[in-house]
Amino acid sequence: DPHSLVGQVAIVTGASSGIGHAAAKALAKAGASVLVNHPPTAGSMEKAAAVVAEIKADGGVAAALGADVSKEEQVDAMVRETLRLFGGLDIMVANAGIERPAPIHEMSLSQWQAVIDVNLTGAFLSARAAAREFLRRGPQPNLSLAAGKIVFTSSVHEFIPWAFQANYAASKGGMMLLMKSMAQELAPMKIRVNSVAPGAIRTPINAASRDTQAEMEDLLSLIPYGRLGEPEDIGRTVAWLASDASDYVTGTSLVIDGGMSLYPAFRGAG
Ligand code: NAD
Repeated sequence: DPHSLVGQVAIVTGASSGIGHAAAKALAKAGASVLVNHPPTAGSMEKAAAVVAEIKADGGVAAALGADVSKEEQVDAMVRETLRLFGGLDIMVANAGIERPAPIHEMSLSQWQAVIDVNLTGAFLSARAAAREFLRRGPQPNLSLAAGKIVFTSSVHEFIPWAFQANYAASKGGMMLLMKSMAQELAPMKIRVNSVAPGAIRTPINAASRDTQAEMEDLLSLIPYGRLGEPEDIGRTVAWLASDASDYVTGTSLVIDGGMSLYPAFRGAG
């Protein structure tokens, strides 16, 4: 079964909630052992432990580990710990991300830097650590057609501009060319690098933007498919991109947005 991840090991960063949680569950369901990363902040450890418990209750294998993806030593230590716990690494899902919205003329350097550090530098550090291990180890034809798989959680805001979230859009635009450049560089070594680019998914990151009925209606008017995305919509695509079922796919952003990027305002025009 080309969808099977049995015998493989995955790290999912920012996996204690939202899309990372769903990706961790989907990867474990397909048979991978999953390192559920969370930031070393109050409350996150308990949430990650609950994700691990869910996966185990489902018959899967998982462990939780705190590491701040924006810190080089912590990311490298996370990969070392994964190798120690599970004996290898086959899949890196660089998913951790934050938003710090502000009008551009009021955006502080710390708001700018926080988003770039986690979303872009964190993705670089996670992907670099994985690539180093994939290259050191080389292909494992008994496990997978590829010698390693990297999946970034980007966003439709890697190509749709976002007023009041210029830091976020810049981080995801940067992520797009990080992903494509890595894919071009690593393809000869049989390492595949791709992104998922979600639209509006029901997770804690955007809970405030759908507080009221009116806000919810505004959001839905942007989505031709007529519903918000669920974390599982993204999770199962991450598992597919990590499996041999997508073996010839590399350097691609898979847009998963219910048609949000299809210029829905034009349905009524012309
Ligand atoms: P979320 O807030 O539930 O998930 C983000 C996760 O990242 C959290 O678990 C958080 O603890 C973790 N995190 C934050 N800083 C970290 C750090 N320094 N080190 C390690 N982990 C850290 O929201 P989500 O929507 O699931 O977000 C996941 C990814 O999906 C993000 O990269 C986000 O930009 C992207 N995304 C979300 C949407 C959406 O509509 N929800 C759309 C497009 C892209």
